[in-house]
Amino acid sequence: MIEKASAVLNNVFGYHEFKPLQKDIILNVLNKQDTLVIMPTGGGKSMCYQLPALMFSGLTVVISPLISLMKDQVEQLEALGVEAVFLNSSLDSQQYQNNMDLIRSGVAKLLYVAPETLLMPRILELLDRCQVDALAIDEAHCISEWGHDFRPEYRQMVNVRKRFSNAVCIALTATATPRVREDIKQNLGFSASNEFLASFNRENLFLEIVPKANAVGQTVEFLKKFPDQSGIIYCLSRKQVDELSDTLAQNGFSVKPYHAGLGEDIRKENQELFIRDDVQIVVATVAFGMGINKPNVRFVIHYDLPKNIEHYYQEIGRAGRDGLQAHCLLLFSYGDIQKVKYFISQMTNEQEQLVATLHLNDLLAMVETDVCRRIPLLKYFGETFQSDACEICDNCVNEKKPLVDLTETAQKFLSCVKRTGELFGIMHIVDVLRGSESQKIIKFRHHLLSTHGIGTEYSKKQWSHLARQFIQKGLLNQDLQHGSLKLTQKAYNVMLGREEVMGLLEEDTTPATKPKVRHSDLDFDETLFELLRQERKRMADSMGVPPYVVFPDKTLMEMAHFYPQSRDTLLQLHGVGEKKAQRFGDEFLSIINNFCDERGIREKLESSSSSTATQTQTKKRKFTVIAEAYNEGKSIQQLTSDFEVKQETIVQNLLKYLQEGNKLRADGFLQASKLDDEDQMRVLEMFRHLGASRLRDVFDGLSEEINYDELRLLQLYWLSQD
Ligand code: ADP
Ligand code: ZN
Repeated sequence: MIEKASAVLNNVFGYHEFKPLQKDIILNVLNKQDTLVIMPTGGGKSMCYQLPALMFSGLTVVISPLISLMKDQVEQLEALGVEAVFLNSSLDSQQYQNNMDLIRSGVAKLLYVAPETLLMPRILELLDRCQVDALAIDEAHCISEWGHDFRPEYRQMVNVRKRFSNAVCIALTATATPRVREDIKQNLGFSASNEFLASFNRENLFLEIVPKANAVGQTVEFLKKFPDQSGIIYCLSRKQVDELSDTLAQNGFSVKPYHAGLGEDIRKENQELFIRDDVQIVVATVAFGMGINKPNVRFVIHYDLPKNIEHYYQEIGRAGRDGLQAHCLLLFSYGDIQKVKYFISQMTNEQEQLVATLHLNDLLAMVETDVCRRIPLLKYFGETFQSDACEICDNCVNEKKPLVDLTETAQKFLSCVKRTGELFGIMHIVDVLRGSESQKIIKFRHHLLSTHGIGTEYSKKQWSHLARQFIQKGLLNQDLQHGSLKLTQKAYNVMLGREEVMGLLEEDTTPATKPKVRHSDLDFDETLFELLRQERKRMADSMGVPPYVVFPDKTLMEMAHFYPQSRDTLLQLHGVGEKKAQRFGDEFLSIINNFCDERGIREKLESSSSSTATQTQTKKRKFTVIAEAYNEGKSIQQLTSDFEVKQETIVQNLLKYLQEGNKLRADGFLQASKLDDEDQMRVLEMFRHLGASRLRDVFDGLSEEINYDELRLLQLYWLSQD
């Protein structure tokens, strides 16, 4: 059975491997076992019922809460040549009748409906006369009152289930909270054995959290690194959305606002412009995102602090659904905490207030951590992050900064807190230290204090970063309601010179994590990619669908890398099934052919109709290609120039190869190492003591004298030895 499923995956969807858990889930469904699927956004939930739907002889009914979601899925399925229809109020009576006929006659394989439509007697009666093989409940968290989008009609689905007792039921959600999961299972009467819970780690999202200094400037700098790419910027208030959207438009960005205060028409239009790649950026409140399936969102910026980790996770989750790398930036300021606090204080229910406060603390734990961001993030969802460095968050890629003696600096700050009566927040103290003569300072006569103007050596930004550290180190307590600072016993010890303070001093520039604009492992021809993109847009517009319905970005990248020149080879690419090759293939092929003719480029694929050998050959992942070249004797240095990447990338790829259980020759790593013998021995000795998995410990253990590049090389050497 699984062979057949793999063939469908390949021929219809154009994918060559299942994503994690998909295979088990699909088998379970095909065996007609009720199944609960909990997977993060982008995990590939739809496939779990779409593929079985193509294998069942009867109909699969998909319950979906939003018209936009149904429409999106049906468009994508149609492009794949799958008979899928929906029934909802957006159809005129002719179309509606048409779709009813397709269902009645057994032509349609999938029917998408909202629960309230499904509950209508005439629909139920129509379905009574069909063979319903599966009932898929998408966004199943709508069943739960604890979920964020409770829909009472979802509670009736259990009766629908009973009515179509031959249909296997599959419920899917991206909501990770155990309470909601329990609710779904209980309501639908599922047993625990048929629950599939995927990891919530989104491996392709780069997570970065930086102090908000000059938010507009930071945002503009960031956006410049993503030309022509889609992204979302979340703000807390409608006003902020409008302002930022205007500012960005004035700076020449392609941008639209989205919030509940805009008319329904405008909202719809702006969303559609975004989905169809006519507008690159949407500045939005949290109202934006539900019902958006756009796979190629390359960045999400949180301009303000999200309400809690769950919101944050959900919002960044809209990036990178296509599995290619996407960048998530959160601009964080302590002022924002006050805003969230305000929201919390507006809550009427005490229990809710308590929960929200706990959530805020969880969020702060992630924001303030100096270890891998994924550790606190996944902990929130009850998951232990398997490794201690993901290499795809700011904390993992930034070199650890040295600690400096901040005792004197702390003394200045603390005495200023003392002299202003422990009544003021960080920014006021900083203003006094920096010698501001603002109205507020004059009013409180703080310009007369001895601490006025004694801290001009640091910028405002540096001071607030310092102040945060003093709080974290327990020198100060901050009143959560008003932000005012109070001294602790420890602070007095410091002021009296009895205790030292060590900490980090930030440089006075915008933090330096470089977003990795590279969005795939594949090096592809940018010029060709752009031509293909334009063609895709043209076709999509003429069909009235979003560009990703024609082909996802990844397919175009592969085209611009492999230069396929026949339908046969085109079929070997990601996302190209038989139907799509037929329908769209020729247009793209003719562009590729022209392009290659002019430049004398040959295709990089072997032609052979669906021979699996060739397919695995061409589908070989990049790290395998690199590792094989290495094992054949190429040096690391040669590989960096052959593949035109940094040594770091080669090393990462080789590590991945090892982690998949393969072997590498060990000698090449010692050759590449720039350390002398003695240092090499020191590192290896440290591996012997500490193991080779926690490089940070090894780095610390060697008094931070050996850089990470070298450690990684020797780590590979260590792991490659028998
Ligand atoms: P979810 O509903 O879990 O957010 P989707 O069903 O939208 O995820 O799938 C996310 C993306 O992954 C889609 O673009 C989908 O086409 C793609 N996808 C699904 N299964 C596979 C697979 N086996 N291989 C490659 N891509 C896949
Ligand atoms: Zn990390």
